[in-house]
Amino acid sequence: TLNPPKYIWFNGKTIPWQDAQVHVLSHAIHYGSSVFEGIRCYETSKGPAFFRLREHVERLYLSAKIYRMSIPYSFDEFLTACHQVVSQNDLRNAYLRPVAFFGYGSIGVNPQHNPVEVSIAAFPWDSYLGNESIEQGVDVCISSWNRVAPNTIPAAAKAGGNYLSSQLIVEEATRKGYVEGIALDVNGYISEGSGENVFVIKNNTLYTPPFTASILPGITRDTVMQLARQMGYQVIEQNMTREALYLADEAFMTGTAAEIVPIKSVDDLAIGSGSRGPITEHLQHAFFGLFKGTTPDDHGWLECVEGV
Ligand code: PMP
Repeated sequence: TLNPPKYIWFNGKTIPWQDAQVHVLSHAIHYGSSVFEGIRCYETSKGPAFFRLREHVERLYLSAKIYRMSIPYSFDEFLTACHQVVSQNDLRNAYLRPVAFFGYGSIGVNPQHNPVEVSIAAFPWDSYLGNESIEQGVDVCISSWNRVAPNTIPAAAKAGGNYLSSQLIVEEATRKGYVEGIALDVNGYISEGSGENVFVIKNNTLYTPPFTASILPGITRDTVMQLARQMGYQVIEQNMTREALYLADEAFMTGTAAEIVPIKSVDDLAIGSGSRGPITEHLQHAFFGLFKGTTPDDHGWLECVEGV
């Protein structure tokens, strides 16, 4: 359960956490019409720093664009609000959850006359699939649910409604004793987990599904691709069959909340040795090294929180 901080940013102001309320007839509650982000802020030797804040806020604005939702704050105002919510709550390690949604107005499906409300929450949050998952890995299954088909609900938008699909996937997986489910796309190729992208390693090469496999274009996915290439690994975006995952030397999942999580088994078949593989560990070392200071931040991915 969430450990609430003192303040939240809501519709342009910092207010007490418990005062951020909406009407039950808000459009988003009935129709899933929200767009959101998950952003991490890590404690570094230079103080708390956001990881790829701009890319996350850009993705939020792109998700809103798809739904023709106009966010009533400029990009820079949004960035400033992210800084404020961390500094005002005195957080060091934090997970930020910005959300923009169609609020209370008309009850019809078309939201064009509903106001757009925006909030940014920040709170401490451990690694999504458990801190021990980072070293020990997790057991996953292939979901009986497919990912949304192209031209139905856009997979590239991080929208609230998309997470009905994610809920079905993760609820089924955990009910059957797995930590996460991996969904196939409508063509039967590997897509992604309910909240993570997927990578397969075979013969020292990394493979990950392309954008056309109904994935969310993950920022951690992009980070791992760039780090892996810098480290000399070949990275290929291509469609993969279910058995490619079964026969992988190593596999792992990536996400802002989950970070980099090794996959130990898929459908009760051990992946490689059945524990974290050496390349996965190497990539984790480079990734977490960005925050520890052992990996140079060549891309300017870290942005120190102002006002702390
Ligand atoms: N796919 C889905 C469905 C997700 O919810 C997430 C988490 N945002 C990801 C992939 C990973 O994306 P990112 O690395 O940008 O957090």
